[in-house]
Amino acid sequence: MTFKPLFRNRVIAVFGALVLAAGAHAAAPQVKTQAPGFYRTMLGDFEVTALFDGVIELTPKELLTNTTHAQVAKLLERSFEADKVPTSVNSYLINTGEKLVLVDTGAADKFGPTLGKLQANLKAAGYQPEQVDMVLITHMHGDHVGGLVVDGKLAFPNATVHAGKEDADFWLSEAVMKKAPAEAQMFFKAAQDSLNPYVQAGKFKPITSNAELVPGIKALAAHGHTPGHTIYTIESKGQKLVLWGDLMHVAAVQFPQPQVTISFDIDSKAAAVQRKKAYADAVKGRYLVGSAHLPFPGLGHLRAEGKGYAWVPVDYAPVAPVK
Ligand SMILES: [Zn+2]
Ligand SMILES: [Zn+2]
Repeated sequence: MTFKPLFRNRVIAVFGALVLAAGAHAAAPQVKTQAPGFYRTMLGDFEVTALFDGVIELTPKELLTNTTHAQVAKLLERSFEADKVPTSVNSYLINTGEKLVLVDTGAADKFGPTLGKLQANLKAAGYQPEQVDMVLITHMHGDHVGGLVVDGKLAFPNATVHAGKEDADFWLSEAVMKKAPAEAQMFFKAAQDSLNPYVQAGKFKPITSNAELVPGIKALAAHGHTPGHTIYTIESKGQKLVLWGDLMHVAAVQFPQPQVTISFDIDSKAAAVQRKKAYADAVKGRYLVGSAHLPFPGLGHLRAEGKGYAWVPVDYAPVAPVK
């Protein structure tokens, strides 16, 4: 009988230790980091890697044009968005098996601390910037060309850079810059700081026609958002991807209402024409689309819906098809 109190004490001690252990478990610190910013898929024989540069907050009510505040507010609410929309900045890396081609480069340090993650994500995705053979620029806004130069050096030292000639003639021209309003000066500066080192090194090649730049990759003029805005078609073994650049910015609004424009457009009427043309073609062709400012990875398909369109994002899946 003398054992009983001892036994009870032991039980209490063990139970207490278990409670303590359970308590310690619940106090695991929150990690608060996101998954690495790359997404990979195959397109025929080509490997496509979407690269995440970060997010920037856009305020569509202030920025969108050819619409009303009330209309934008209604469409944002319908898509569970608030006044500030966290907007991805996406680039795309295509390994054709012969060439490594990067389409757009992110902002580097030109748009604040929420962007500039492209270099880190390129490396996380298993590549080095020195391996890039060609950089294709959709247009010379800072969130697309900023990543060409990092710490004053060519970020892609072995690459030639291609962009629409009309964009080079506009953004890289001192004469055009001088005539532009004060609030536009920073756009010119970002373009010149990013492109001029490649121009001086003889590594910049303006695009003058809808040409095939490497087998399977073609430039297609889609002028409007900027004077030389260019989209790129990627094709391998009958599969097709079209990279839209800045044909659209705000999914919640510009899919249901393609006529809505944005104040960043240099020629908003032409930009709307190009957007409508690209939307209709994507529905007809049923091909994959990649867009610089759709939620990462910005890859998906488009279908017609009512008088507008609806976006269908890709599934998150292994690189090879599930067998
Ligand atoms: Zn732009
Ligand atoms: Zn952009």
